[in-house]
Amino acid sequence: MTTCKTGAEHIRSLKDGRTVYIDGQLAGDVTEHPAFRNAIKSAAMLYDFQARPENAELMTFAPPGSNRRISRAWQIPRNYAEMVQRRKALQAWAALSYGFMGRSPDHLASALVGQRIGIDVFRKHGEDRAKAFEGYFEEASRNDYFLTYVIINPQSERAKDWGDQKEELVARIVDEDSGGITIRGAKMLGTSSIMANEVFVANLQPLKPGEEALAFSCALPMNVKGLRVLSRKSYEAAAVSMFDNPISSRFDENDALIYFDDVKVPWERVFVCRDTDMCRAQFHDTAGHAYQNYQAQIRLSVKIRFLTGLAHRITEAIGTTNIPSVREQLGYLAAQSSMVNAMMAGMEAEGTMRGEWYVPNKHFMYSAQVLTQDLYPRVVNSLRELSGGALIMLPSSIHDFADPELRKIIGVTQRAANMGPEEKVKFLKAAWDAVGSEFGSRHTQYEMFYAGARFVTSGHSYRTFDWSDATGMVDALMGSYDLASELDHKKH
Ligand SMILES: Cc1cc2nc3c(=O)[nH]c(=O)nc-3n(C[C@H](O)[C@H](O)[C@H](O)COP(=O)(O)OP(=O)(O)OC[C@H]3O[C@@H](n4cnc5c(N)ncnc54)[C@H](O)[C@@H]3O)c2cc1C
Repeated sequence: MTTCKTGAEHIRSLKDGRTVYIDGQLAGDVTEHPAFRNAIKSAAMLYDFQARPENAELMTFAPPGSNRRISRAWQIPRNYAEMVQRRKALQAWAALSYGFMGRSPDHLASALVGQRIGIDVFRKHGEDRAKAFEGYFEEASRNDYFLTYVIINPQSERAKDWGDQKEELVARIVDEDSGGITIRGAKMLGTSSIMANEVFVANLQPLKPGEEALAFSCALPMNVKGLRVLSRKSYEAAAVSMFDNPISSRFDENDALIYFDDVKVPWERVFVCRDTDMCRAQFHDTAGHAYQNYQAQIRLSVKIRFLTGLAHRITEAIGTTNIPSVREQLGYLAAQSSMVNAMMAGMEAEGTMRGEWYVPNKHFMYSAQVLTQDLYPRVVNSLRELSGGALIMLPSSIHDFADPELRKIIGVTQRAANMGPEEKVKFLKAAWDAVGSEFGSRHTQYEMFYAGARFVTSGHSYRTFDWSDATGMVDALMGSYDLASELDHKKH
């Protein structure tokens, strides 16, 4: 008998009548749709992986009082060892998509774990809201829900405050009664929403007094009445074949605008209501922001390692590996890859206790965020630099191999010292899919922005750095000499 959620169970749960639009049409059953079905299978693969008996201990745990095991992503670490144990599960999941599924289920589970650690913050906001959050955490974790979130407002007139944007742009409370609240407007950018069970809605961007209608947080099933999902272009649908697009054909987790068309939210799913400061506190005074972005760095450590491996293989494909300046570039990439790992290990080793729970080092996490949002495009650029035209001088699709004459020409022109022509084309197509395709380009945008623009992440770094320690050293130096005593000394 299965002891935890399986892929088939997840796929079944998505056949729920959700309202998803793509290319001007209603998608219908997303699990069957050519724009989404492979990414959904990849999400299902995560659950199948954790359901394998040999992976049970690595990937899952049994919460108290339950005989059904759930992902370790829901486990709240009580010490350093438990944090590392949990991280190993998250790394194993990330490795299944080579780090390309940014919003795998462990991202939101991590956000909620961090917020649950800070339940005292919700209590200050109101006992009912804290109870709602606690209840939701139990429900989502026990059922191993795949959650996504929308916590950012759509860009429109960035020079104006959120409350001054045209009505119906930013999601807001338009009604409230004994049953709950009603929300109308939009949020961006629900990555993975098409393959998630539920969406967590909140406001991370600063609000000011007077913007209380925008100041709410809640959770909704993806098929709730009035919730409309407007998908971006599907790279999966544009993928020619697995051979031509081995990554985008399977791991296009999708992004979508979420529009709330008078969606009713019952009180037991409302966690913040009309409190502008609590919207900030929900992430920053709890451990929510620290945990969700720690997960992102765990996942990134896997992806950068994969890209570093790609770089080495690119040099093998074009025969440059032994050129000293190329080796130097590879060595530099390897150092960057290990730096991401080292920062992740630092967050864990320098973590702190919060009550009975262990929390990663916040400033180390923000430092990693600032540095890696710059690092990712530079790593991608290094791969392009190492490649030259190899990523482009490729057969248009698998169909060229089906023609004997073209296959012969491919055989002559795609030679490499250590790779056969077919193997070389197969590999270079994968490399282009990862870094150069429209899918690859979206990943650069993702890594640069998923946690906020540079001015936002640097602001967090500024806020959490121990300035008194750093400036104290400068003060100690200044205090160690002065003009008067030196002049006095010279006199004698
Ligand atoms: C691929 C992708 C997936 C995403 N997935 C999700 C998701 O699942 N859920 C979710 O909630 N969000 C998601 N996001 C949204 C993401 O969190 C935001 O893009 C991010 O927070 C930056 O906000 P923004 O897009 O409004 O950019 P802005 O904040 O508008 O920044 C854009 C640029 O404008 C300039 N700028 C704007 N305002 C200022 C200012 N005040 N001071 C200085 N410069 C300024 C900066 O140059 C900045 O680089 C996703 C984004 C991407 C690209």
